Amino acid sequence: MPAVDLKACLAATVRLFRVPTDPDLTRAQFDAFSKQIPLLYFILITNTIAVAYTYVPLAPASLSMIVPAVLTAVTALRTVWWLRQRHVVRSDADILRNLRLTNLIAAPIAAGFTAWSFALYPYGDAFAKSQVAFYMAVTVIGCIFCLMHLRSAALIVTLVVNVPYVLFYFVTGEPTLKAMAINNLLVSGAMVRVLFIYYRDFADLVSNRKSLLMQQAATQALSDENFRLANLDSLTELPNRRRFFAELASAFNDAERRHVHVAVGIIDLDGFKPINDNYGHSVGDRVLIEAGRRIREVCEGFGPQRVEFARLGGDEFGLVVCGDPEDVDLARLGERIGEQVKLPYQLDTAHTGLSCSIGFALYPNSATTSEALYECADYSLYHAKRHQRGRTVIFSGELEAEIRSRGVIENLLRTSDFGAEMELVFQPIVDAMSEHTAGFETLARWHSPRLGWVSPADFIPAAERIGLIRPLTQVLLARALATAKSWPDHIRLSFNLSAHDVCAAEGILPLIAIIERSGLPPHRIDFEITETAVTFDFVRAQQSIATLKAMGCGISLDDFGTGYSSLSHVHRLPLDKLKIDRSFVADINENPVSHKIIKSLTGLCDDMEIACVVEGVETRAQLDTLRRLGCDFIQGYYFAKPMPGAAIEDYLAKERERLDHGSTSKVVA
Ligand code: C2E
Ligand code: CA
Ligand code: CA
Repeated sequence: MPAVDLKACLAATVRLFRVPTDPDLTRAQFDAFSKQIPLLYFILITNTIAVAYTYVPLAPASLSMIVPAVLTAVTALRTVWWLRQRHVVRSDADILRNLRLTNLIAAPIAAGFTAWSFALYPYGDAFAKSQVAFYMAVTVIGCIFCLMHLRSAALIVTLVVNVPYVLFYFVTGEPTLKAMAINNLLVSGAMVRVLFIYYRDFADLVSNRKSLLMQQAATQALSDENFRLANLDSLTELPNRRRFFAELASAFNDAERRHVHVAVGIIDLDGFKPINDNYGHSVGDRVLIEAGRRIREVCEGFGPQRVEFARLGGDEFGLVVCGDPEDVDLARLGERIGEQVKLPYQLDTAHTGLSCSIGFALYPNSATTSEALYECADYSLYHAKRHQRGRTVIFSGELEAEIRSRGVIENLLRTSDFGAEMELVFQPIVDAMSEHTAGFETLARWHSPRLGWVSPADFIPAAERIGLIRPLTQVLLARALATAKSWPDHIRLSFNLSAHDVCAAEGILPLIAIIERSGLPPHRIDFEITETAVTFDFVRAQQSIATLKAMGCGISLDDFGTGYSSLSHVHRLPLDKLKIDRSFVADINENPVSHKIIKSLTGLCDDMEIACVVEGVETRAQLDTLRRLGCDFIQGYYFAKPMPGAAIEDYLAKERERLDHGSTSKVVA
């Protein structure tokens, strides 16, 4: 055991005289040290010159001048070297090598000066001898002090100078010098103790600073990661909505300052919802990821403008186009994105038919704040979705006027008295073969005291936007039912429901109550629901439809062919009629595509055993074609324009008369 202890003691002692290897500690030592070493040499050189000066008349020139000159020259060179170190960036290995060198040359330098002092000593008188003793004591204390940061070197110098010092002066037998030797021994002991305490604190400080820095780095990394995640869309790994608006704000400020253009774009996928509904969310997610990837690729390869791209949520994406873009650049960007989104997607079930609508707005042409610019882009997108599906729309003066009139309609609608200002007109739905009126579709009319007659195509969407559609529907339905009660029993009533009526959280109970109160048998009522309403919230729509159906009401799918509902919707809903949109009828005799579409839709209705209604029939030629294609019911100006409720009795009487006389000439009310 004692052998082991001795070995450990020896190892610990050797360690005291070695430069440590911890790179953080050696770097800190080197930094502190390089500032103090020049001072150390200053003390050494000035003290040496003072002693040499005293001994010039007393000792041989070789000792009093040449040796100190050589020693001073060596230390001066080292001083210059250390002074240069302040501005040099060094590697860890370099620092370690230099500290080791310092450690190594500490002993010979200290020994050189000590030997020189002892060599001078015999030449001096009592005063000069005391000066040597004083020189050695003071210089060594000064050096230890300056070497505090490199404990090993400080200890080497202490030993190399003080051990011979104490022995030498003690041996002289001179009481004053003996006292100085003992004194020096005690002071050196105290100094060494201070050195140990100081060095330990210094090493602790370095290691604490190191762990603090590591902690700070870890905290920084964590906060960087949080920042990244907070700005990233987790599904597509694209920048998210938050990041988009931050990007927009900074791009906008930049454009404002530099007086250049900046544009905002909003992309909405057309036909995405049916994919999600029909193929499930995991397929939907993959489509979103792929569409996002393609759009990002277009943005990254676009020039000379820089395009920032983000997912805003759902199937909506945002663009910020920096670098002074013009309308032509936006159109070019929109076209490229559209081309890429349209390409087929490799899914479980191959599905094509996805496209995208894009709305752009350009600063300063369209708006003067980033918020307003975004609103304008959003309106352009809305316009594209309604009128130019799958295309790019750039905000213009025309759209601005449209927004203004939209705002006016919304405001007037808010304060309008539905009971007094709303009216209903009725358009016959005619049996294609017998040409007997089978029912009437109710169409709303608003007579605004300020604007005059407003089209339902304008005020129905406005009522939807401002949340007034449901009270409006209730007023109109009650009135339509009251009118229909006076009709012959075989005449049906068709009534349009908005997506908001069908998909409201509280269901369609208020409408059911109105039907029950009216006294009109539910089996004489057809509710017209658009495909868009069905895709808006399929589950809710399905529930509402089932409830109406259970009451005995009929359900017609309106505007079929214009929206993006898939055939699966048609199959999954308990429909009675399909109303083919009038856009296919207008050119049925000129355009083979329209002809083909109507032919396949009538075939579909046959298969599903539901009736087919074609709206917008304006000419005899159209009617004849539609009859040949097997359409069941016809609606359109060819038979009658929408008429007030009061005109119906007369209209039906005239129709009876006409048909009784076997004439096929039309009657327009
Ligand atoms: P819709 O349900 O598709 O109604 C048919 C529209 O086509 C009506 O326009 C009608 O006047 C028009 N139309 C009928 N025959 C012809 C024709 O031969 N040629 C042409 N060019 N047009 C014809 P209207 O009355 O302006 O209604 C527009 C839309 O407003 C309706 O489209 C419907 O979606 C909505 N709407 C009208 N009334 C109501 C309502 O009471 N409630 C709800 N929710 N929506 C309504
Ligand atoms: Ca309709
Ligand atoms: Ca319609």
